[in-house]
Amino acid sequence: MNEHDCTACAVKNETNENKVFAVAIDGPASAGKSTVAKELASLFGLIHVDTGAMFRAIGLKALRLGIDPTDETAIEPMLQDTVVTIEHVDSAQHIFLDGEDVNGLIRTEEVSQAASNVSTLPSVREKLLELQRELAKKQSLVMDGRDICTVVLPDARFKFYITASAEVRAQRRYNEYEQKGKLDGMTYEDVLREIEERDYRDMNREYAPLRPAEDAVMIDTSELSIKQVLTKVLLSMIDV
Ligand code: C5P
Repeated sequence: MNEHDCTACAVKNETNENKVFAVAIDGPASAGKSTVAKELASLFGLIHVDTGAMFRAIGLKALRLGIDPTDETAIEPMLQDTVVTIEHVDSAQHIFLDGEDVNGLIRTEEVSQAASNVSTLPSVREKLLELQRELAKKQSLVMDGRDICTVVLPDARFKFYITASAEVRAQRRYNEYEQKGKLDGMTYEDVLREIEERDYRDMNREYAPLRPAEDAVMIDTSELSIKQVLTKVLLSMIDV
């Protein structure tokens, strides 16, 4: 293998040349995107930007104000008064909504559904697109979401679409809620239904729907361990 064929060299070269570059990861809920993104970020010393958290913050604000998250005419004026920012503390992303750290408040099923609804609105997507592109201009990063490879950073150096069957994703989400004591009476079937609803909305919305970019590397994590997924990701980076 030539020195410049290896992933670490590719990343190092870009860094040495002071070039900003991005690893873009898309895929449906609970497919393992964030886990892979965090591992890659830590391996290459980059920041990880979880764009889902930004939509969650806006969904949270709509819930707090009692605004219907599907109502563009009510959400649009709300957005004019909304500031979403992120900071990294010990490499963990913290999301701020109007100056308040809301990291601990956005991982509930209610906020997931609100985020999924507000994310269909063009005004919300436009506002966050600006923030996401600004972040990627300033520094090299690993960014994950639903439209990063297709819309936000179509020229990203590395692109991945990470997926898994809805059943496997629902089981992972169910186990996570169970471990954290967040099930709140939900059954596996409830979690599966919610995942399927979100998939449907994400894949069928008019603006920036979830779909694999033509040049993204597709990885189905249904039957793979985290280590196996990461190995596939790193091996595929050698050829890019
Ligand atoms: O990734 P996560 O599940 O936290 O995202 C929450 C919701 O935000 C998703 O269901 C999706 O509707 C929306 N989203 C989006 N585009 C992104 C990231 C998230 O539409 N880039």
